Amino acid sequence: MGEGLGHKTRRYYRSEEDLRQFYFNLKQMPCPHCRSIGTLIMHGYLYGYDENAFNKKIIRGRRIFCNNRKKHKPGCGRTFSVLAVNMLKNFSITADSLWQYLTGLLNITNKTNAFISLKFTLSISSAYRLWKRFSISQSRIRSYLVRLCPPPECPDTPCAGIQTISHLASAFPDSSCPIAAFQQRFQVSFL
Ligand SMILES: [Zn+2]
Repeated sequence: MGEGLGHKTRRYYRSEEDLRQFYFNLKQMPCPHCRSIGTLIMHGYLYGYDENAFNKKIIRGRRIFCNNRKKHKPGCGRTFSVLAVNMLKNFSITADSLWQYLTGLLNITNKTNAFISLKFTLSISSAYRLWKRFSISQSRIRSYLVRLCPPPECPDTPCAGIQTISHLASAFPDSSCPIAAFQQRFQVSFL
């Protein structure tokens, strides 16, 4: 899962095959909390709600437990999650939908209209919450993106958000969802 990350703990997986590889490597992986190696075990599913149906449960990822019940070399007993790469931490909207929303902004200047035009079931307040969250995360997002390529020239765009969206698109030109590609590549939350 991801390349050149050294001993950083993986946080996202792109497929069931990728997840199998992650499980296979668990024994050599350090716990993100206590750094112990050999203590991590699977700890069930991480559920959430479908972005299009608030009463429909979906699997967002898996929980991993740092086993503190082992007699020899016990772990710290804490857990962490690995998410499917199309999931966004703390939001029910998927990376795909967020990308549609953000790229919609390239053509429509009014954020509410961009959201309505995509016929999301989320509320307008969610649209502003997402935009605010994205705005706060931008400098961090860009600091990752410059590792892949310089920001594209956007002389006509004073809006920093639109520059970041363009930068994402040029950093992952072959991906249908650069946000998911970002999470997979850097193994960090986009927002
Ligand atoms: Zn631990």
